[in-house]
Amino acid sequence: MGVFKAVVIDKTDSGQHVELKMVDDADLMDGDVAVRVSHSTLNYKDGLALTGKAPVVRRWPMIPGVDLVGTVESSSHPDFKLGDAVILNGWGLGETHLGAYAEKVRVKGDWLIPLPKGLAPHQAMAIGTAGYTAMLCLMALERYGLSPDRGPAIVTGAAGGVGSVAVALLAKAGWHVIASTGRPQEADYLKNLGAAEILDRSELSSPARPLNKERWAAGIDTVGSHTLANLLSMTKYAGAIAACGLAGGMDLPVTVAPFILRNVALLGVDSVMTPKPRRLEAWRRLVNELDLDKLASMTTSITLNQVLEAGRAIVEGKIRGRVVVTIT
Ligand code: NDP
Repeated sequence: MGVFKAVVIDKTDSGQHVELKMVDDADLMDGDVAVRVSHSTLNYKDGLALTGKAPVVRRWPMIPGVDLVGTVESSSHPDFKLGDAVILNGWGLGETHLGAYAEKVRVKGDWLIPLPKGLAPHQAMAIGTAGYTAMLCLMALERYGLSPDRGPAIVTGAAGGVGSVAVALLAKAGWHVIASTGRPQEADYLKNLGAAEILDRSELSSPARPLNKERWAAGIDTVGSHTLANLLSMTKYAGAIAACGLAGGMDLPVTVAPFILRNVALLGVDSVMTPKPRRLEAWRRLVNELDLDKLASMTTSITLNQVLEAGRAIVEGKIRGRVVVTIT
């Protein structure tokens, strides 16, 4: 392939422009592995990059897309050879390094992990960064020592990508899951994923009191701002919330009361720079613990020429579950 198809974001004096076009191999960035991309996915961060709503893109022009699955085309990295099926999540892909909405990438082999046995390429991207982050959150809660006998677990932004996978994983691990959503019409969808209760997100979106009635022992928060503050103020003694998102805002208007009076912990979760051993563990567990029928029920598919429209929809909170981008 001398040229390949890609979504390209460029910036001029008149603003940001996104187009599907042919890119020359010579324009690919440095790396020791070239990958033929079969699928990518749509995460909230991809929506921010595509719409320019937040400064995700750090280099221009940029090919967005933070996740990929594909087949190695050439490699000088000792761990990967021609024909290997690989996954890449994060490491700056689609932000500082030309990304996944393309037929081809050239990347550092150190960023790649093998496609786990038992997962088809499209299933790996149905999981994507969103699903892998949901697993990192569950692992953070478990590392903190929490288990389902301690009380319920809440998930915010439950009908979104991270939220949907988090509901399914927590339920499978035996938790009584409270799914918080702004979309009451998705109650049946969330119950099918394993939610035991639905909580309207408006109950968590007003400014939080320092402490409130104790309602859950654990939580996975994708929303931030007042929602996260309310979660903390309602967490049971010695419980914890894993915070990974900012769909409702980047601020955190909270007091220290939950921390110093209830021994509550706030556990930060970043997927982009997570070291390889923890990534491998997360993917191993996803293969074993995520019900593939439930994954299919939360997944839709689009093509490269639909990503801009889908990117606009995800930042408006209109996408349910996960979106796979089929590339080749
Ligand atoms: P989605 O858009 O799929 O999900 C976000 C959900 O949040 C929406 O579906 C909606 O759920 C809810 N929501 C949206 N806007 C608001 C609002 N204004 N107030 C309250 N709730 C809102 O995105 P993803 O699942 O891909 O990502 C979720 C968050 O996690 C994002 O902020 C993303 O940046 C972050 N993230 C962080 C990662 C990390 O490494 N730390 C990795 C992956 C994601 P509902 O309709 O059910 O209320």
